[in-house]
Amino acid sequence: MAEVKISFYGGVEEVTGANFLLEIDNKRLLIDCGLFQGFTFADHRNWDPFPYDPKSIDALVVTHAHVDHVGRIPKLIHDGFQGKIYSTPPTKELAEIMLRDTAHILEKKDEKYGLAEIYTEENIKKALSLWQVMPYHNVLMLSRQVELSFRDAGHVLGSAMAVFEYNNKKIVFTGDLGNSPSPLLRDTEEVTDADYLIMESVYGDRNHEARNRRREILASIIEKNFQKKGVLLVPTFSLERVQELLFEIDELVENDLVPVTTIFLDSPLAIELTRVFKAHQDYFNKKTQFIIGAGDDVFNFPGLRPTLKTEESKNILKSPPPKIIIAGSGMSAGGRIVHHEKNYLKDPKTTLLLTGYQTPGTLGRQLEEGARKVTILGEEIEVKAEVVKIDGYSGHKDSDHLVEFVEKGKKTLKKVFVVMGETKAALFLANRLREKGITAVVPKLNESVFLDLNH
Ligand SMILES: [Zn+2]
Repeated sequence: MAEVKISFYGGVEEVTGANFLLEIDNKRLLIDCGLFQGFTFADHRNWDPFPYDPKSIDALVVTHAHVDHVGRIPKLIHDGFQGKIYSTPPTKELAEIMLRDTAHILEKKDEKYGLAEIYTEENIKKALSLWQVMPYHNVLMLSRQVELSFRDAGHVLGSAMAVFEYNNKKIVFTGDLGNSPSPLLRDTEEVTDADYLIMESVYGDRNHEARNRRREILASIIEKNFQKKGVLLVPTFSLERVQELLFEIDELVENDLVPVTTIFLDSPLAIELTRVFKAHQDYFNKKTQFIIGAGDDVFNFPGLRPTLKTEESKNILKSPPPKIIIAGSGMSAGGRIVHHEKNYLKDPKTTLLLTGYQTPGTLGRQLEEGARKVTILGEEIEVKAEVVKIDGYSGHKDSDHLVEFVEKGKKTLKKVFVVMGETKAALFLANRLREKGITAVVPKLNESVFLDLNH
């Protein structure tokens, strides 16, 4: 009997903490093992015991390298997991950098919960030794009857949807779905043959306005900052968003569409991740591969100044405006950006540019919602800067495109489980899908469901 069980252990009615258990053909398989990231970079729930015995898990399948999908892997190892880990090649390389960076942040910040103990060099090394890579569309047998393959999700470099095939039925975990067309990556592949879909819903209730005008808007913000001799602060995610912005600015600068401005890339993490991008250019879309083939280094242009050392970062203050500072973290929940925000948000000539999702409770969310007074590094700061947002650079599909993605596969779909979005977004998307005649539910945390794969 082909009965299958899925348990929803994280990334349920919230964006972060993705963790799903698939019990199939006598195998226990995890999909993603992400960090819960709410009010803090890593909230205390991350150190609660897993609701299953990690020793009993046969394998972990990783969709992509964002910390909210890989961040609890060191804990899984620490708690006894011995199985194999599977992902695409770029995901493994990027995850290694992300996990080491997370270890470094936790070392400084979270002694309170003893979090750093789990992020030891040893646990990360062990994870990497268990980790096997597989390109898109290859097939791997996870048991006598269960096949695993990856399809391009178009979200970040190497991001994948995990497809499990059993008894001629397919269960697809989307991971995060890219906001295609992306400047760099290929479009999200279609899924028209799935029986069950476990899908993300970060933007389930919103559309990205002005997606087609994103580069134009970016150019006008850079131009305006140049004219008023201001400081343009860009808190950004080091994985994918930075590389996309660099690519876009490269195009703008080299085609004389914006004036050359000093641009500090003030993120050792982003600088390191960009190296992985350069090593996997075959994962880029055709247009980008063509530009690279014609001899352009798409992540380098006049005015760009990567700042690796702390001392170089501090010296940015001395550099005269106009200037642009790109730094992490993307939600201003730590990292070098908060130092710049502390220095510059009180200046009306400053522009703060948000380019992505801001989790409730973070400084980024406060600023997005128009807070005029914020506390940064223990100091109260009056916000006089202009806060602008370009939604078009989001790494996630918006509501209309999520619906379109599912609708294309409607014929074979029996049920859609809507996860990895705040409650409101998930419920809204499920509702929209039901209106299209598709069975869609929003599971509860720790809920288990049985799928009948006989029919
Ligand atoms: Zn992601």
